[in-house]
Amino acid sequence: MAKTVLITGANRGIGQQLAKELAGDGWDVLVGARDRAKGDAAAARLRKDTGGRLKGVELDVASDASVATAVQKLRDGAIRIDALVNNAGIYGRTDPAATLETNFFGPLRVTLALVPLMTDGATVTNVTSGLGELSNLDAAHRRLLQDPALTRDALVEHVRGFVRGEAWGTNAYGVSKAALNALTRLLAAELPNLRINATCPGWVRTDMGGRGAPRSVEEGAASVRFGVTATESGGIFRDGKRIPP
Ligand code: NAP
Repeated sequence: MAKTVLITGANRGIGQQLAKELAGDGWDVLVGARDRAKGDAAAARLRKDTGGRLKGVELDVASDASVATAVQKLRDGAIRIDALVNNAGIYGRTDPAATLETNFFGPLRVTLALVPLMTDGATVTNVTSGLGELSNLDAAHRRLLQDPALTRDALVEHVRGFVRGEAWGTNAYGVSKAALNALTRLLAAELPNLRINATCPGWVRTDMGGRGAPRSVEEGAASVRFGVTATESGGIFRDGKRIPP
């Protein structure tokens, strides 16, 4: 039986490319998009390109209500998820709250909401960035995120602190991805029947990365894809190799 993957923010960029490749390889692909029309259009486009099975799913990762509605629809359709790719992200907004809501709380809420629909051994891939490396943070937050005693609730509270104005030594995007890396480790420990990793696409020529980026969207998607079939859990990878947190 074909496996099912849900990719958030898959209507363009790296998410769309990954959707295309997995559909071409026989996966059933749920194309997550916050704008339903854009998700349906991307799914139709990729069905034409690949002859594969893709379907749009309206899913705004920054909205509890949108995630709940999407999960209910999947449940109603008796859909089981073998792989989730938390790809949706924003960069460069001036509003730190929106960045954290999308890039950190988004993967957290989508993952927790989907756990009941996941098959045993399913993978969760959190798309991270080199800008989230601990070396970019101030010493206190470097220590905090590496602390073996850190809990998920404490991490969430610290991220809320950043949104309220506490400094971490880097910008909202860097904080969102550094916290996402720590969350990946914590969720992997919390949910041992899943394989939960973070993968970095590198700097990629998408709307986000810009035309001057060194990597093609295919190279970026290949690096992210490692997480979809990973056998380990709790790691951070680029091009299939572990990178520092
Ligand atoms: P992109 O071309 O800007 O695409 C971003 C995607 O995320 C779009 O489909 C966008 O949907 C979606 N999105 C944004 N907010 C959302 C929300 N609240 N709910 C659902 N979808 C939402 O970016 P990309 O370069 O493909 O980036 C994909 C991932 O890779 C991101 O997590 C990014 O941080 C990470 N990354 C990228 C680079 C790079 O150089 N490009 C480097 C490191 C990491 P709309 O079309 O509706 O806006």
